[in-house]
Amino acid sequence: MNNFSTWLLKPAELTLKGDNKKSFEGTLKSNIQRLLAKIDSHIKIRFTSGRYYIQAPQEKSELIEDALSRLIGISGWAKTLICEKIKEDVLAACVEEGKKIARQGIKTFKIDARRTDKSFPLSSYELCCEAGNAVTNAICDLKVDIHNPQDIIRIEIREKAFVYSGEHKGLGGLPVGTAGKGLLLLSGGIDSPVAGFLMACRGMSIDAIHFHAYPYTSQEAKQKAIQIAGITGSYCMGIHLYIINFTKVQMRIKERSPQAWTTVLLRMAMMEAAEKAANKIKCKCLITGESLSQVASQTIENLSCTQSRIKLPVIRPLIGFDKQSIIKEAQRIGTYDISIQPFDDCCMLFSPQHPVLHGNPQEANKLYEALDLEELINEALGEYEMVK
Ligand code: ATP
Ligand code: MG
Repeated sequence: MNNFSTWLLKPAELTLKGDNKKSFEGTLKSNIQRLLAKIDSHIKIRFTSGRYYIQAPQEKSELIEDALSRLIGISGWAKTLICEKIKEDVLAACVEEGKKIARQGIKTFKIDARRTDKSFPLSSYELCCEAGNAVTNAICDLKVDIHNPQDIIRIEIREKAFVYSGEHKGLGGLPVGTAGKGLLLLSGGIDSPVAGFLMACRGMSIDAIHFHAYPYTSQEAKQKAIQIAGITGSYCMGIHLYIINFTKVQMRIKERSPQAWTTVLLRMAMMEAAEKAANKIKCKCLITGESLSQVASQTIENLSCTQSRIKLPVIRPLIGFDKQSIIKEAQRIGTYDISIQPFDDCCMLFSPQHPVLHGNPQEANKLYEALDLEELINEALGEYEMVK
């Protein structure tokens, strides 16, 4: 097994799950399997007493670590050494980890030890002291700093002894697939992929729907949405993106309604179309990237108009986020650079100079019904394009 490495993964939040715990653990295991199966068919995954272990060929490390950095449902992970639960072996493994971190230029460390096997002859505290001494005796460049160490060498005494350093923080959250499926309204902008990601972090599977107005919007705008869906999907165990040409609906709105209302009416039509699609593909809610008062169409009154015709819950995970925080999240998940590419979204095309700010839902519905959009919406939905 010389050319194999082992990674130890810590599940997040599952301790809170009571009776559901087993099913959450099973979903997380199958998500790990699905993610890693694409990398190598020889990867082994094991789950015992609260830890997942991945054993895989050493040369696949980079791919595996990239996959783990996108895995929702783990609080942390690290490549680990495994040895027998014998004091001398554990100390030797700590020295080996010490050499590894010293080669990375690290100067200060501490030991953190925990035992689920209480029959191990040293207490956690004694083990910390002995391991700290062993490491500093062997490597003169390394010093213990209990309060502010550059790295931590961790020891876990379980069915075997596990020794690791350089623990990576996981994304946290609940395993995707434990909270039903939602339909994300995905524009080409910054906000909607972040909204989808946040719901995936609550365990929701995500499908997405994108409306475009080709030929008024460019092919590039559509490609941009596909790319953004691809990145969002890399966290969500994949995504089905439904692409809808909404040009006729949009033209009808433009021709037949007061200019100030066009954006709100378009949003109402998108919601109605998205709800129809969601019911077909068994999504239990709609998800949008709306944030209170970010733009005119997102005042509380206009949000009420937007959702006034549909029954499914509309989830807006960013409702209380300011733009800077959303941008930070978009940068973290890697969608930001694509979102800021300057291709028109269909909403920008006919956006009025002086939009209604505090629309009344009754007035909105009266205007909406006069547009007689149902047939056009059904036609648009009937000609969808789907990208996995
Ligand atoms: P940004 O605000 O960064 O331009 P955005 O995606 O939030 O991007 P908004 O104009 O604020 O764009 O739209 C509000 C929400 O409406 C979006 O988050 C998205 O959920 C939905 N939406 C807007 N345009 C589209 C579209 N073309 N297709 C699907 N959903 C859309
Ligand atoms: Mg927005």
